[in-house]
Amino acid sequence: MPGYYVHEASSYPKALENRSFVLGLEAPDMLKKHVKVYGVDGARAKYNSLRTNDMPEYDELLPRILQKETINSKDGLHYGVSSNPDVKTCWANLSVEQKKNPFYRGYVTHLLQDLAIYGRIDIDSKFQKVLEQHDANVDLDSIRKVEVKKLHDDWDKTNALVRDTYPEVVLSDEVKELGVVKYINEGDLVYVDWRVLKECIDYLRTFDTLNGDMDSIIETVTKYNI
Ligand SMILES: [Zn+2]
Repeated sequence: MPGYYVHEASSYPKALENRSFVLGLEAPDMLKKHVKVYGVDGARAKYNSLRTNDMPEYDELLPRILQKETINSKDGLHYGVSSNPDVKTCWANLSVEQKKNPFYRGYVTHLLQDLAIYGRIDIDSKFQKVLEQHDANVDLDSIRKVEVKKLHDDWDKTNALVRDTYPEVVLSDEVKELGVVKYINEGDLVYVDWRVLKECIDYLRTFDTLNGDMDSIIETVTKYNI
């Protein structure tokens, strides 16, 4: 999945100066990760240590944190799977107050970025194609493992490219603390087309999702995918 670095780079640069927005932008990936690493109580304590006045109570987010994300549902922090999040439902479910809130705006921004980036780089179908090239006699699981590793390496390579292309984008302390952002400086990308990804990042970061008209931004960006 697009990593934290890609999400930051794809955001309106001025919006990243708002701490609540940044924590919202990180939330759909980070909240789940914190539960995995610290358990629910530890994750709640972590959340409270990072929490700003604009952020909801942890227990408001908890039901979705604990839900499984599957293709045929709108459950979980991504309202579906991260490769196809239901941004419109997420936005429509927010109250008028929440729609003005920088944390929730960062949150919706994350889902919108996942949708646009996955739609554009189209990893799923590339992945499927590679698997289909092998006949039924081979051990598909071991092939899948090899390909997943290539995909993970791709993201670590794009981290290095993002770092070098957008030097003004900095990772937050809580992301650094996770230790998940790694860099591979050499080798070709296999699944991710950097030219397409960069074009997508440059497009997404023009939208002021902190203060702009979110309904029209969602409408515009959703069409970008088709
Ligand atoms: Zn995500």
